[in-house]
Amino acid sequence: MSEQRASERRVVIVGAGAAGDGAAEALRKAGFDGPVVLVGRDRHPAYHRPYLSKQFLRGELPIDRVGLRRGDDYEKLGIEWLGERTAVGASRPESSVVLDDGRFVRFDVLVLATGGTPRWLDTIPRLDNVFALRSLDDAVSLKQALEEARRPLIIGAGFIGAEVAASARMMGKEPLVVELAPVPLGRALGEEMGQVYARIHRDRGVDLRTSTAVSEWIADGSRVRAVRLGDGAPEEVDLVLVAVGIEPELTLARELELPMGVGGVLVDETLRAETGVYCAGDIAAHRHPVFGRHLRVEHWQVARKQGQAIGQAIAGEPTPYHELPWFWSDQYDVNLQYLGNAVAFDQAVWRGDRDGDRFAVFYLQEGRVQAVLAVNEAKTIRLSRELISRQVTVAPDALAAETSDLRALAG
Ligand SMILES: Cc1cc2nc3c(=O)[nH]c(=O)nc-3n(C[C@H](O)[C@H](O)[C@H](O)COP(=O)(O)OP(=O)(O)OC[C@H]3O[C@@H](n4cnc5c(N)ncnc54)[C@H](O)[C@@H]3O)c2cc1C
Repeated sequence: MSEQRASERRVVIVGAGAAGDGAAEALRKAGFDGPVVLVGRDRHPAYHRPYLSKQFLRGELPIDRVGLRRGDDYEKLGIEWLGERTAVGASRPESSVVLDDGRFVRFDVLVLATGGTPRWLDTIPRLDNVFALRSLDDAVSLKQALEEARRPLIIGAGFIGAEVAASARMMGKEPLVVELAPVPLGRALGEEMGQVYARIHRDRGVDLRTSTAVSEWIADGSRVRAVRLGDGAPEEVDLVLVAVGIEPELTLARELELPMGVGGVLVDETLRAETGVYCAGDIAAHRHPVFGRHLRVEHWQVARKQGQAIGQAIAGEPTPYHELPWFWSDQYDVNLQYLGNAVAFDQAVWRGDRDGDRFAVFYLQEGRVQAVLAVNEAKTIRLSRELISRQVTVAPDALAAETSDLRALAG
């Protein structure tokens, strides 16, 4: 064990979401018996954010099933959970964070897991029926408004916008989705998959307008009642969701002068930004041992697993974090899963019928699989893990043939 005995070190975790909660629990599971303080702005104990745009929003899952924890779980784990508390400052010389009630909390090891805040555009009015979606409280307000809406307007067709559009349609609403790019989900999945998703949404009745933006907001008192797109006629809407991405929450990281890059905090293979300071989740740009570059991923499982790895590292010895990034998105009956990272690829190989409802795409760079995307094909994801981890060269024809054994191709 490093520097001090575990029981003498005090671990402070800022951010009690997917990563922060994962780190706190993993510390105890790994036998760490020193003090653990978990500071979270949210008034709820950690919950499953992914439900907020899907089952919870549609009323299929009650609020008590959204939680990852009940209030007394932290007490049982011996974790001091400071809910509804924001860390507003941090000092390296004093090894402490300052809370919004003026309290100083000293740390030996600090974990930053502060996630992100929904991005907002200056041109969008902050009126009563204009929403963002990140927290459970956001979701409660949006759900209530959506239930009464007929034509919700969704600004942005990234994952959150696309999932809320699907949920709204499944609730019998007539969503209008406005996206500046030529296709939905283009930034995350590229042009070709974006076209697939455009078809999926339009076939199911979503009014999806791409390569355009709102040019005029028309309000009635405190509510938006219509918008104009480009130079078109006014479109009546009764609710607006702004879903144009997040800004990673980096205030404390900047104050601590942690190394920055790829839109977040640069952390080494063990998720450490510097001695005694770890970062996980949406804010962490992790130097991934498989890809040999820093990756910052805004997805649930990555945050959760990084948090858990940090907990284990603090309780034991830091070891490189090897997990391949993995995420999913559910829209209607379409389950998308994605394993790996294909920021750079020179070839996309399709396996299965791209116009059908089950297929996979392999993204290759110099003949090596960087990522695989699968639609209603979870098995392909499982079978491709070694292909990505081992970075072996593989023939595109073999990947495309549905009869070939993906595990065998990994050697
Ligand atoms: C509606 C929705 C649906 C999603 N669906 C999916 C999905 O289907 N699949 C998928 O892979 N991913 C999904 N995601 C993304 C996933 O939830 C996030 O990537 C993940 O939650 C990031 O975890 P995190 O711990 O980094 O941040 P968070 O879970 O956001 O936790 C950060 C916490 O830190 C708190 N905080 C921030 N600053 C401070 C401070 N100074 N002091 C105290 N507390 C602070 C915040 O209030 C927040 O509670 C979804 C996200 C949303 C919003």
